[in-house]
Amino acid sequence: MHGHLASGPIAKAMLRLRRVAKAFLVAPLLFLAAASAPGHAESGPLVELSGQAVQGGLIVGRVPAGVEIELDGAPLQHADDGYFLVGFGRDETEARRLTVRGPDGRSESRKLKPEPREFDIQRIDGLPPSQVTPDPESLERIRREAAQVRRARARIDRRIDFAGGFIWPVEGPITGVYGSQRILNGEPRSPHWGVDVAAPTGTPVIAPAAGLITLAHPGMYFSGGTLLLDHGLGLSSAFLHLDEILVETGQQVEQGEVIARVGATGRVTGAHLDWRMNLGDTRIDPETLMDGRPQAAGPASE
Ligand SMILES: [Zn+2]
Repeated sequence: MHGHLASGPIAKAMLRLRRVAKAFLVAPLLFLAAASAPGHAESGPLVELSGQAVQGGLIVGRVPAGVEIELDGAPLQHADDGYFLVGFGRDETEARRLTVRGPDGRSESRKLKPEPREFDIQRIDGLPPSQVTPDPESLERIRREAAQVRRARARIDRRIDFAGGFIWPVEGPITGVYGSQRILNGEPRSPHWGVDVAAPTGTPVIAPAAGLITLAHPGMYFSGGTLLLDHGLGLSSAFLHLDEILVETGQQVEQGEVIARVGATGRVTGAHLDWRMNLGDTRIDPETLMDGRPQAAGPASE
C-alpha cells in the first residue's frame, strides 16, 4: 500500500522526515573507505569495502582474483573482477560476518553491523475505504503484478553496472523517504520503500546507472507505469508512476540515458518519481548511495 502525497501539509511533514533522514546520513557512520583496486593477494588487503553499513544501506566490496568470500558462513557470489554486494534491510540489526580467504590460505574477517535508523510513522485518515482495502478482484491483480516484479528481480548475473556509481534519475524536491511506516485509516501498511522526487508529468527520467531493463509495464495497480532496471549481481532499481516508458524489456541502457517520463499513474495524488532499489529481496534506500540532493537548492514542493 502506498499513498503518494505530493502536496499540502503531508508534503511538509514528509520534508521534515527527510531532514531527519539527512541529518542521520551525514552523521558519522561506519564508512568503509575505498582505496585503489586490490593488489596482489600475497601482500595487499584481501578485501576492500565502500558504502554505508546502515539500515537500508549497501556495501560494495571487491576482492583480488582467487579470493573466496563467505557471508555469515555461506559462500557469496562475486563478479569475475571481484566485485560483490552486501545489503542491509530496513529492520536489520544483527551484525553480518564477512570472511575472505586467499588462495594461500590467509583469511580476513570483518564484522558489518548496520547502524540503526529511526523511521517515521505517518498516519493518514479519512481515505476512501476502497483505497485502503482493495476488493477481491483488485487483490488478485495486485498478486499477479507482484509476482511479475518478483520474477524480474530474481535474476542474478555477473554484470557490474553498479560499479560506476549512481546519479539522480530526476531532479526535484524529495517528498517521500525510505522506510516510513504508513498507517492508513488506522490500519498499518507496509513501509514506503522508495525515495519520492516531485517533478512535473513528462519530465525525463534518466538511468541512474547502466543496466538491463528487466520489466516495462504500462500500468500496474499501485505503481502505474513501472520500469525495472537491473544493475548486476541482483541489484536493481524500480521506477514507479511513470507517464511514459521509452525502453523495452531486454534493452541495455547507459547511465544518463533517458528511459521514461515522470507521471502520476497508479495510486498517487501528484506527479513524482518513486525510485526504489532492491538487492534480491532486500530493500535498499537509494538515498544512501547518493552524495547530494536531487537538486542543488530551492524551496520544497508545491
Ligand atoms: Zn512513493
